[in-house]
Amino acid sequence: MGTKKETLEFINGARLCFGCGACAAACPAQALRVTPDADGFSYPEIDFAKCVKCGKCRKACPVNADFPPRTDDPEFCSVRHKERAVREKSTSGGAFTALSDAVLARGGAVAGAVWTSDLQVRHTIGSDPAARDAMRGSKYVQSDTAGIFPEVKKLLDSGKEVLFSGTPCQVAALYAFLGEKGGSEGLVTVDFICHGSPSPKVFQAYLRELAAQRGSAVRQVRCRDGKLGCVPMRMGVDFADGSTYLEDCDHDPYFRLFLSGIINRRACAACPYTRVRRNSDLTIADNWRFAAFAPEWDDNTGVSTLLVNTPRGAALLKDAAEALEIRKCTLADIDQHYLHRPGGLHPDRDLFFRALRKHGFAAAAADFTRPRPLWRRIRSRLLKLLGCGPGNEEKL
Ligand SMILES: Cc1cc2nc3c(=O)[nH]c(=O)nc-3n(C[C@H](O)[C@H](O)[C@H](O)COP(=O)(O)OP(=O)(O)OC[C@H]3O[C@@H](n4cnc5c(N)ncnc54)[C@H](O)[C@@H]3O)c2cc1C
Ligand code: SF4
Ligand code: SF4
Ligand code: SF4
Repeated sequence: MGTKKETLEFINGARLCFGCGACAAACPAQALRVTPDADGFSYPEIDFAKCVKCGKCRKACPVNADFPPRTDDPEFCSVRHKERAVREKSTSGGAFTALSDAVLARGGAVAGAVWTSDLQVRHTIGSDPAARDAMRGSKYVQSDTAGIFPEVKKLLDSGKEVLFSGTPCQVAALYAFLGEKGGSEGLVTVDFICHGSPSPKVFQAYLRELAAQRGSAVRQVRCRDGKLGCVPMRMGVDFADGSTYLEDCDHDPYFRLFLSGIINRRACAACPYTRVRRNSDLTIADNWRFAAFAPEWDDNTGVSTLLVNTPRGAALLKDAAEALEIRKCTLADIDQHYLHRPGGLHPDRDLFFRALRKHGFAAAAADFTRPRPLWRRIRSRLLKLLGCGPGNEEKL
């Protein structure tokens, strides 16, 4: 079995990997498997004894994909679902529900991220509103995409329409996996403006810590609990004893780690998809600036940003329009950091993961959500000068 480093060298000649598993899904010899590393992030490993050197993994890897650059900016909109109950169950304005309803109404299928019964996050596909409802709500942890790309292909081959939703790198992986089939009329893709994907291992450690503190098992999680409104962002966790934990993003330790970028996948530091001109047909996001042009929407149930990137995306928005209130915008009305550049490598990322392994979630989270001590600031300056720390993301 080749190491993860040798495998990436073989597949894309770089250390860049989004953990999408498209390479393993494309391998006809079952020579590739994707497993988590010590920090909980999935990477592929090749069994070179089984490999028949067909090159299919390289073709399916989004890192190698050469997407033709878009020549026009997208159309910028802000939208919200007309039904308050839908907005309350969604992350921001419920754009995803309106778009997916239009596809379901035509007998199509929708793919997106759901919680499994053991509170992992994985991609699934379904053709009814209940399956789609489980995809609602941002899960701030990297989703497992094992098996989803062949399933989308199977449905497209059978003539079914598919709406695929996910991170921009997952959308890129789907197109790379499908090759020419990616141009198929039946496929519509929705990504989001992406801050980064955190480690599933950190999230599980956080849930174990909450369960231990409460003395009761965790039953359900909402990373953006809307019970008390959309702002501030809140983590909501239900326990087996019937109690609920509800904490805002400035005080919940997992939310603080997520927002700081310290628990993100390494590839997110130099993400190539943080741009205005995108690969997907549509892009959804939170809109925090709507009060300037739609003050009447200010009921704390959330507003979605929507970027219409392609004619296919425009056609789907037209079909979904009846369920939405829509405002045409400028880039300034919806702008945010991750439309222009990635977050860069958190200077203490490796120290955090070392602390997590050694001392567990509670101690590591307490240490790395405090103001940075002087020695850590000096350390990251030195690493930067030596060319192996933050500021050198292109070499990661
Ligand atoms: C990890 C992550 C980082 C994000 N970063 C930003 C950001 O920096 N700025 C910003 O404006 N918005 C960001 N978002 C998007 C935002 O949180 C909302 O998803 C978006 O505003 C859509 O809202 P909605 O009401 O239309 O969607 P909802 O109805 O809540 O639907 C959520 C959609 O997100 C997908 N999804 C949920 N969790 C995951 C996951 N873990 N992996 C892949 N797909 C997932 C679902 O399949 C569904 O399509 C992020 C989302 C995630 C999951
Ligand atoms: S070259 Fe072909 S057989 Fe070898 S790992 Fe890649 S896809 Fe599998
Ligand atoms: S296909 Fe995905 S999992 Fe495989 S090497 Fe490329 S980015 Fe990594
Ligand atoms: S920041 Fe980029 S690499 Fe990271 S999950 Fe989002 S799209 Fe993928």
